[in-house]
Amino acid sequence: MRPTPRKCVIDSQIYSAAIEFTANLERDEWGGIGIGSYTKNNEVLLKGIVFPPQYRSSATYCSFEAKYLALLKFTLGDLGLFPQVTMVAWVHSHPGHGIFLSDLDRQTFGELIGENDRLIAAVIEPTQKLIGAFSGASATDQIEVEKRDLLWKEDQRIRLALLENLLPEMKVLVPPLPDNCTPGNLLETLYVLADKIVRMRKWLATEQLARQASLLAQPENEVE
Ligand SMILES: [Zn+2]
Repeated sequence: MRPTPRKCVIDSQIYSAAIEFTANLERDEWGGIGIGSYTKNNEVLLKGIVFPPQYRSSATYCSFEAKYLALLKFTLGDLGLFPQVTMVAWVHSHPGHGIFLSDLDRQTFGELIGENDRLIAAVIEPTQKLIGAFSGASATDQIEVEKRDLLWKEDQRIRLALLENLLPEMKVLVPPLPDNCTPGNLLETLYVLADKIVRMRKWLATEQLARQASLLAQPENEVE
């Protein structure tokens, strides 16, 4: 097992957006997935949070279906972000309860850490306007959380901003397109993605043709 993260750096805009979003849910808990990357110094960089529709949600409980994890992973792949940008945190809110993990929280975390052995658990406390983070195989170690204006490659940021359009069924918190993003840069990224889709379509068409051809080539059942 790789060393567990010792610090969580959250993009300032995402920090505020997460507190604002979870503060407006009538005190129900809400669960989601933090996406980002790791530094060489074993820090988690939290660049966005995605909240799937909640399967169940109350003042002390929340859950979402596992299929949304797969959907997010595929979409990050479609955008050419995975595996550099991946699921780094299981996130849920504790409106008015404080920063801690319950036994049930640790159990849920235990089920998810199989997806990524460096996963952390982040708890959003909207009434205290705080986010806490826990690391380790059973999320027993509370780690430092720092709010920072994260800088990353413009191309990666454009791709991340497109996530919102590709996951309309989820609440997607990602930084907006950079202010200095030129239409040229945006188009360049879109062309690369469009080209990838065209190539996938071509591959699919060839695959389907090959399958039909092999069906045609099969000898027909003999009729007595
Ligand atoms: Zn909890």
